[in-house]
Amino acid sequence: MNTTDPHILLADAAQRAADYLDGLKTRRASPDKTALERLNQFDQPLNDGPLAAADVLAELDGFGSPATMANVGGRYFGFVIGGTLPAALAANMLAGAWDQNAGLAITSPVAAKLEIVASRWLVELLGLPADTATGFVSGDTMANFCALAAARHAVLASAGWNVAARGLYGAPEITVIVGEEVHVSIRKVLMMLGLGHQRVVTVPVDGQGRMRADRLPDIAGPAIVCTQAGNVNTGAFDPVGDICTRVKNTGVWVHVDAAFGLWARACPSLAALTAGMEQADSWATDGHKWLNVPYDTGMVFTRDPRALPAALASEAAYLVDSGGREPWQYAPEMSRRARGVEVWAALRALGRQGLVALFERNCAQARRFAAGLREAGFEILNDVVLNQVLVSFGDDDTTRRVIARVQEDGTCWAGGTVWQGRAAMRISVSSWATTDADVDASLAAMCRAAGAG
Ligand SMILES: *Cc1c(COP(=O)(O)O)cnc(C)c1O
Repeated sequence: MNTTDPHILLADAAQRAADYLDGLKTRRASPDKTALERLNQFDQPLNDGPLAAADVLAELDGFGSPATMANVGGRYFGFVIGGTLPAALAANMLAGAWDQNAGLAITSPVAAKLEIVASRWLVELLGLPADTATGFVSGDTMANFCALAAARHAVLASAGWNVAARGLYGAPEITVIVGEEVHVSIRKVLMMLGLGHQRVVTVPVDGQGRMRADRLPDIAGPAIVCTQAGNVNTGAFDPVGDICTRVKNTGVWVHVDAAFGLWARACPSLAALTAGMEQADSWATDGHKWLNVPYDTGMVFTRDPRALPAALASEAAYLVDSGGREPWQYAPEMSRRARGVEVWAALRALGRQGLVALFERNCAQARRFAAGLREAGFEILNDVVLNQVLVSFGDDDTTRRVIARVQEDGTCWAGGTVWQGRAAMRISVSSWATTDADVDASLAAMCRAAGAG
C-alpha cells in the first residue's frame, strides 16, 4: 500500500471509523476483559525508525477500538455523555485536515466566521438577549471558568477595582453564593479564580436539588450567585428567574451552570423549566454532552458582550486586531482547535426542528425508562423532568450489586451515584443514536440484573 498518498490513508481511516460505528450496533457498551488486556500491546519501547502511517492506524484500530467505551452507540447512559452526530463527526474529520489555529481571525478566517454564525444561531435558539456574546471553549468547566472570570471582573469594576490589572490582593471581597447541590466544576473554577471554594455562602436545596430562592441571603457589596440548570443527578432546574428577580438592581451577577439543561430553552415543551433564565448575566453549556458534537466543546455566553474580553483579552503588538470578533478574546487559550466548526455543522444538520426533536426524544426515552423500571417494581428517586433518571433497586447494597451486574452484562452502561443519602443507578439519555428499541433492550438487561424477569 502506498501509505504516503493521503487518499489511500484517509480512505482507510474513514473505512475503519465507519466499520467501528457499524460494530457498535451489536457490541457491548463497554470493553470486555480481553479487549482491556490487549491494551497492554501498546506497551512497547519507542521504535528507532519510522513506521508506515497505515501500520500505525492499523495498530490503533486493532488494539484501541475494541477497548473504547461505546458512548457513540445508543446504549450508553453513563454520567451525562452524548454521542457524536454524523455531520459533526464528518466536519471534525475535515477540520482535522484543515488543522486551523482558531485563536485569531487572521490565522483562520473560516473558524472565526463559523464561530460568529454558530454564536448567532445559538443565541436565537436559546432565547438569550440579542447582544449576548459567545466563547467557544473545551467544555462546561471552562465555560464556567470564563463566565466567573467575567463576573469577577465586572463586580469588582463596579466597586472601583480593576482585577485584570491589580489582581485580588487588596481587592474588595466578593460574596459567592452557590446551592448545596453545586456542581464540582464550579468549586474547581472558584479555586482557579482565587475566589476559594470554601468561603462560599451555601443555599439549601429542595428534594430535587433545586436551590431555594426563599433562602437566598441578603446581599451587599460585590456578589456572584451561581445557579444551576440541569442537576447532574435529577436533571432539576434552580428557579433562576425567581433568583434573578430577587437580586434585581443590586449589581449581583447571576451565572447559570447549564451544562445540558440550557438546551431545554430550545424546546417549547420544556420552556417552563427555564422560565426567566434569560435575565441572568452569564450561561455556560457543553457541546459534547447533549448537542452531540465531538469532544471537547463547550460554550460560554455573557449578556454584556464586553464582559468576556474585559476578563480574558490582553494586548501584544504582534496580535493583529482585525477590528471584528477575535476568538481568543472570548476564551482562555490563544492557539486552539476550531471547535466552532462542529457546532456549526451540528446546528446546520439538525436545524431548529431536528434539535427540538433530539432533546424531546431523549426526555421521552428517560420517561420510558422510569415507567418501565417502576412497572418492574423499582423506585424512581427523582421527578423525571428532563433526561435524567435515578433508580433504586432496594437497599444501598442491592442497588450497588445491580449496577455492577448491569455493567458486567454489557448490554448497556449506567453508573452509580448517591442521591440525598441513598445509592442509586443514574441513567442519562443524551444521545441522538438512542432508539426506543435500545431503551427496551437496556430496560430488559436492568431487570435481568435485578432478578426481576
Ligand atoms: C458535566 C457538567 C459540568 C462539567 O462539564 P465538563 O464538560 O465535564 O467540563 C459542569 N456542570 C454540570 C451541571 C455538568 O453536568
